[in-house]
Amino acid sequence: MQTGKSSIAIDGPAGAGKSSVARILAKKLGFLHIDTGALYRVLTLQVMREGIRPTEASAVAKVAKLADIEIVPGSNGIRVLLNGEDVSDAIREPKVSENVSLVAQHAEVREHLLTLQRQLAAPGGIVMDGRDIGTVVLPEAELKIFLTASPEERARRRMKELRTQGHKVTYKDVLLSIRARDNLDAERLVAPLRAAADAVPVDTTGKDINEVVREILEYLSAAGGLKGCSTDS
Ligand code: C5P
Repeated sequence: MQTGKSSIAIDGPAGAGKSSVARILAKKLGFLHIDTGALYRVLTLQVMREGIRPTEASAVAKVAKLADIEIVPGSNGIRVLLNGEDVSDAIREPKVSENVSLVAQHAEVREHLLTLQRQLAAPGGIVMDGRDIGTVVLPEAELKIFLTASPEERARRRMKELRTQGHKVTYKDVLLSIRARDNLDAERLVAPLRAAADAVPVDTTGKDINEVVREILEYLSAAGGLKGCSTDS
């Protein structure tokens, strides 16, 4: 599966800064960023549109099998298409966030998306972020990072993001929803949220994104760099 180019796995709980860090890092290295949470969100959107309960394993698995998901690199990050429709904004709605961990717990859903994620990563030169990238999807990744931050800080970041998008949310509700998602993701039976044994832990509490990216790049260069990355970092 691995080619001449390296892959980087970034895992961690909701709001730890994975996608922002992965996006900037990919740009600096000349790699492609793949946000795997978007794949679970697309299926969740379709499950909701079809009026299926997210806990109904076989109905949800059928949706996973039939949905045509495409990831298209765009100037402003990746766009996500569901059966040809651009759903990049719809999948970020709080309703989708509320249901996504229930959809993501089903073994058949994970198996289906595992194949897709490995196909996307096959050319190498990828920064992939999610929950099980270092442990399950890309266990051979050259660099694995596990990003964390306190639940309170993650809730504050998510609240700011949601309010900027025009959602009226309270800090308390966002914190509750983050904690609920953390529990479901960490306690599910298949591919739970977990740091790989060889992952580098990075706590982003109190740090801005650029500081975190700098820290990872410093770690990378101390470790001797990566195959296939550009040198503009
Ligand atoms: O990263 P994001 O918060 O968008 O992920 C949404 C949800 O998708 C997570 O809470 C988790 O339930 C699921 N997910 C997963 N495995 C991944 C990526 C995301 O289970 N690799």
